Amino acid sequence: MAEPGQDWKIAALMFLYLCASFFLELIRLKEDKYYMKIAYKEAEIAYKENEIPIGAVIVCDGKVLSRAHNKRDSSNIVTRHAEIIAIEKANKKKKNWRLNDCILYTTLEPCNMCKEVIKSSKISKIVYAAVSTNNNNDLTENKFIQIKDKGIIEKSTIIIQNAFKQIREKDK
Ligand SMILES: [Zn+2]
Repeated sequence: MAEPGQDWKIAALMFLYLCASFFLELIRLKEDKYYMKIAYKEAEIAYKENEIPIGAVIVCDGKVLSRAHNKRDSSNIVTRHAEIIAIEKANKKKKNWRLNDCILYTTLEPCNMCKEVIKSSKISKIVYAAVSTNNNNDLTENKFIQIKDKGIIEKSTIIIQNAFKQIREKDK
């Protein structure tokens, strides 16, 4: 219990704590947006290559270790998802299969196959933009976080929707 007259000190400390948390959160969000934009650029490359436009970036110690986009159709290999290619590149660069001090940014919530690979790679945090509608992901896992930025979520969703629209039109 505080002694009488100490209340203002506690209030001041609480205020400082709240300010610090607020600014830390702002910095984190700014970083998330910065790296997600790089992932989005990868998705745009995939779009131009007539792939389903998904991009991924792996960041370690504040540096981009690898970036990749979906190449399933051009390679005809089912596992060539952006996240897996980015993980493989990061493994090679780090000469380590463990990526426990790294963050993965991906423009779409990872599919179940990628989720298993991500878990095996020990990546510490996964930030995604668009929500996937066709896999039953376990969202209780707190390593997977949706970015707190409506603009980039919308862009990442629309580019995928446009790609599917084009595929449907081609099939007509
Ligand atoms: Zn995947």
